[in-house]
Amino acid sequence: MKKKRRRKRREVSVEASYVCDNCGEEIVIPVDRSAGESQEFIEDCPVCCHPQMIRVEVEEDGEARAWSEGEAN
Ligand SMILES: [Zn+2]
Repeated sequence: MKKKRRRKRREVSVEASYVCDNCGEEIVIPVDRSAGESQEFIEDCPVCCHPQMIRVEVEEDGEARAWSEGEAN
């Protein structure tokens, strides 16, 4: 993720991906940038159904990063 790509600012939804804490699959999720630059939610992995806490950060250039914080309680 070293290259910075330019995107249209008007685009509200961007994609980010995280690696499942349980099965190791890379999961691509849509990110609603209008929901804030720092987001946190619980999501079930679509591959193994493992619930986990997902953190999303939207960067200044509009790119979104996501990662798993591990199993959600
Ligand atoms: Zn999984």
